Amino acid sequence: MLKVVFLGPPGGGKGSQAQRIAPELGLAHISTGDMLRQAIREATPVGLAAKAIIDRGELVSDDVMLDLVKERITQKDCENGYILDGFPRTLPQAHALDEIVSLTHVMNLAVADDEIINRLSCRRMCQSGHTTPLADLNGGKCPVCGGEVMQRDDDQPETVKKRLVVYAQQTAPLINYYRGKGILHDINGAQSINEVRMSILQVLAP
Ligand code: AMP
Repeated sequence: MLKVVFLGPPGGGKGSQAQRIAPELGLAHISTGDMLRQAIREATPVGLAAKAIIDRGELVSDDVMLDLVKERITQKDCENGYILDGFPRTLPQAHALDEIVSLTHVMNLAVADDEIINRLSCRRMCQSGHTTPLADLNGGKCPVCGGEVMQRDDDQPETVKKRLVVYAQQTAPLINYYRGKGILHDINGAQSINEVRMSILQVLAP
C-alpha cells in the first residue's frame, strides 16, 4: 500500500501533482493546507486560530497538525493508501508520523526560489482547492470545476518571502532525514506539469 509524502517548497507543485496523481492511483489526497482553509471557512476553533498564522506565512503548531492528520488517515478513503501534501513540514511532525505509519515514498519536488515567486504571484485558487496559473483560467473561472477563483492571502509577495524562509529553516531538513531512510526520490519540479507527473508516476507506478 502506497503511503506517500509530497515534499517541496510552497509553489513547488505538490498540490497540483497530488490532485492529478491521487485519483489515478486510487489514493486519498490529504492536503493539510486545504484542510486548514476549510476550517477557516467553517470558522471552527482550529480555523480561527490558524488564520492569522497562515496569513503571516508561519506554521501552525505541530500538535494541532498531528491531531488533524491522525484523524484524517483513519477515514475510509485512506484504506488503499494516500498522498500527504504539505505534511510533515517540521522534523517533530516527521518523527511523530514515523510512530504511526510506515511511509513508502517521499517525493521531493525541487524548484528554484525565483521560479516559485513567479508561480505564486500568478496563481489563483478556487474554493475546491484547484490551483491554476492566471493565464490558464477559463473566462476568469477555475478550468477544473468552473468555480470562482481568488488569490490566496498568503500568496502576497511579502508572505511568500516569509514562507520561503520558513521552508528553508523548518521543512528543508526533512530532505536529508528521509534521504537517510532511503525513501526519498528527487523530482525536478521545474519541468512542465505533465513531465513532473510522469516522473512521479515512474517511481510510484513503474
Ligand atoms: P499549503 O496550502 O500546503 O501551502 O499550506 C498553507 C499554510 O497552511 C502553510 O503556509 C501553513 O501556515 C499551514 N500549514 C499547512 N500544512 C502545515 C503543516 N504540516 N504544519 C504547519 N502548518 C501547516
